[in-house]
Amino acid sequence: MAGIYIHIPFCKQACNYCNFYFSTSLGNKENFIHALLKEIELTKEYLKGEVIETIYLGGGTPSQLSLEDLKLIIGNLSSVYDLSRVTEFTIEANPDDLKDSSTIRALGTLGVTRFSIGVQSFFDEDLQYMNRAHNSKEAMASIKRVQDAGFKNISIDLIYGTPTLTDVNWRKNLEIAFAWNISHISSYALTVEAKTSLDRKIRKGELKAVNEEQSARQFRVLMDEMRAQKFEQYEISNFARDGIYAIHNSNYWFGKKYLGLGPSAHSYNKINRRWNVSNNVEYINSLKNRILNFEEEILTEAQRVNEKIMTGLRTIWGFSIKDYELPIIEEIQKNLASIDVEHYTQEDGILKLTQEGRLFADAIAAQLFVEEVEKV
Ligand code: SF4
Repeated sequence: MAGIYIHIPFCKQACNYCNFYFSTSLGNKENFIHALLKEIELTKEYLKGEVIETIYLGGGTPSQLSLEDLKLIIGNLSSVYDLSRVTEFTIEANPDDLKDSSTIRALGTLGVTRFSIGVQSFFDEDLQYMNRAHNSKEAMASIKRVQDAGFKNISIDLIYGTPTLTDVNWRKNLEIAFAWNISHISSYALTVEAKTSLDRKIRKGELKAVNEEQSARQFRVLMDEMRAQKFEQYEISNFARDGIYAIHNSNYWFGKKYLGLGPSAHSYNKINRRWNVSNNVEYINSLKNRILNFEEEILTEAQRVNEKIMTGLRTIWGFSIKDYELPIIEEIQKNLASIDVEHYTQEDGILKLTQEGRLFADAIAAQLFVEEVEKV
């Protein structure tokens, strides 16, 4: 089983915290689509006959493409792959693009089974702080339209830790999401990445700085409220009700193969990891000459183990130490001695983080990382 990810590198407006690859100009859209169709054809051997289980249209903003564009892309994909066993087909969409009910229904006809809506907040002051292109009314209207079109598998993104977001409003954000009876919520702390517009504006004093204590407090509220509403925190930032997990993303964490298409998209086939050039013009020009423009790395055994530690610890399934040879197990157990026992559990060779441990997931994973596995 494998997944296909397609990166649509266009956005209406640049959110100030974003460090994904995208362009706010649609000038190259037609050229991009032609290049993408060529890439679909040229990469058809990468997954070597795997059954395609999931498709994920991400970005950027896939909802910036027209229905005709998406039909063309999916039509080409289905001429190369058997998509009859796809169980989950997700499209990321921003609320301001979900204004037309007939287009939403038509996406269902195209095979889309799941919407991931970039709500981020139901409060305009937070959306303005982040320079999002939509407002809170549009956020709610978009959820209603997608639900009215008959989609049950809906995820929304919510961001906490925004300096404008009070603890009271964070709880209200969650209450509003619960009231919409959403089955899946992805929630992330606002992170100030280097060289983003948010970073620059905070440095210049034009925007208030992000406060780590506020983020940690709101993360605790998030975990408590989700649990009270019977959401399972199956990954640190992902919460699902009734076992409706995001299959495509879960498969990344399980280490399954995936093919990434489009500028900046990553691919993994258990042997190598590769990533496409993060530039629309270079991507288009290479594919005009039928050249795939990517860099790749062959993962060492240590990198493979450490990736599993990093991703496994973030999930409810944990990291299975017992899957490895004795020297690796011993090294991890030795590293574990420096971790606060309140932050993890270990049962039947499976390491998992406790709720408190989830606050320090990345640091704990880094402390457990193994070195030079090849030599042992
Ligand atoms: S819509 Fe998404 S990809 Fe586009 S700028 Fe905003 S956060 Fe980044």
